[in-house]
Amino acid sequence: MPQLHNRMKYLPWTQRFIVRLYPPPVNKLRAWKGEYRYQLKGPPRQNDPVLRLIHRTIKEVSKEDMVVSAAGITVHNLSPGPPIWPLSLKNAQCPIKLYAVKQWFEEFPSVLPVSVIDRGSPFPLTVDKILVEVEGKWKPFKEWLSEFPDREWLLHKPHAAQRKWWTKNGKAFPIMQLPKELREIILKYVLGGEIRPHVNHFGEGRRVILGTASSNNPYSGDISNWRHGSHERKKLKKLIPHPNYAIFCVSKTIYEEAMYVGWGPDARKHFINPEYLKNVLLCPTPPAQPNWLTKLKLEFSIQGYFSLLGVEIFPTMWIDESKSLMHLIKGIKTLVDLDLQFNNPYENYSKADRNPWLNLSYNMGPQFGNQYDGTRRVPCHKIIADWILTFLFPHIKYIPRIRLTGCIKTCVLKKWDYILLREYIERKWDYRTHGYDWGREMELIMSLPQSALPPQCFCPLSCDARELEYRQDVWLSMPDSFDRDDEYTSDMDVWPPSWLRYRDSKIRRG
Ligand SMILES: [Zn+2]
Repeated sequence: MPQLHNRMKYLPWTQRFIVRLYPPPVNKLRAWKGEYRYQLKGPPRQNDPVLRLIHRTIKEVSKEDMVVSAAGITVHNLSPGPPIWPLSLKNAQCPIKLYAVKQWFEEFPSVLPVSVIDRGSPFPLTVDKILVEVEGKWKPFKEWLSEFPDREWLLHKPHAAQRKWWTKNGKAFPIMQLPKELREIILKYVLGGEIRPHVNHFGEGRRVILGTASSNNPYSGDISNWRHGSHERKKLKKLIPHPNYAIFCVSKTIYEEAMYVGWGPDARKHFINPEYLKNVLLCPTPPAQPNWLTKLKLEFSIQGYFSLLGVEIFPTMWIDESKSLMHLIKGIKTLVDLDLQFNNPYENYSKADRNPWLNLSYNMGPQFGNQYDGTRRVPCHKIIADWILTFLFPHIKYIPRIRLTGCIKTCVLKKWDYILLREYIERKWDYRTHGYDWGREMELIMSLPQSALPPQCFCPLSCDARELEYRQDVWLSMPDSFDRDDEYTSDMDVWPPSWLRYRDSKIRRG
């Protein structure tokens, strides 16, 4: 954030005019924005009928136009000369008067030349007689007023603008007059659009709540996230939807409806790691709604799925049934819809809480020395997704709807979509048409020696970010950077798209 003298450097002339006319105190020129904001110390207020009418008009228009209301426009006289209306000997020679005008978030006001047509008329002054000059052209004050506010900026936070507007015009949204179905859609968005439940605390009286920004959130503090600084993470954390609990205080009816929307069967429950899922499922006081876990979404890393399944990787791959949490998922009798999301292998690829092989030798203890240093640490994302689905298969095959989302190769997705669909359709038959032999596949995976682990990548675009010649954190973390269809060729003119490379080169230089 620049100092005041730098902030004043590149102003448009409408603002520069004012800071030249009424410069800030010299001792404030080096002040940062948080320390001092420019304040117009202009001439004293006048008994000016034109300014009074301008203020009244802004107030009236604010009741009708949300953006004008949100802009918080203030107008001050900029010169000590007499008001331009009513016509008198004093002002006959000056038909124009300068005012300073500003929206609430702007630091520097802009100059606004104002004139009144038909000044000699005996009729009272009305707003349609007030003209303002903008970029060399005169236009009616009301027309300018509707164009002046910075719409894009002010509607960036529409709910804040809306609330400010309602306090000004005394109106309210008649939510209870809407049909219940529409009200439920609104309530769903008030609750964040997606539900990320967690246990509120771990002491006495703990219970499952609809979620907060700080837990079950991929950017919350308990999840290590090297790529983002704490400031950026704070911003990202807020982008993950979470409920606005104020809705429960509106009325008894809204409370009940919001509770139903949040815990109802239509609201999918998201979990970012097995810990949150386990704590919620084992909480002694689950939500009162009996079918609250009908739709489930797991957004786990490789390590997350391995912990869920009890998969161990030492000395070779095996499943520790005592650590598996799959019995908890099997215990959800109401579950009919499961969404399994696979994370982007290039995002946080070096974090051990995502990839179990990263700290293998460290976890094995000092007696193994550096035996595993220098070996392959990053698994092929295509193969590992296929293995995770293989491990999950016997536990999830009874669920009617399973969706595989996120970073999953198209061939793996098609294979498993087909197997899971046929398996469910043919669940009562004594044979299956998908031809998938689960026992054999498991045997193959489990018989792999340690040297074959983690599975080596032969994808056209390596699943290991460190092997990519073309690695840039910004680019890699984008969902598009995952080569779903194995279309990558080494010819960089074809892929990634040229605009990404252009942006990359700018980042690198900057
Ligand atoms: Zn691969």
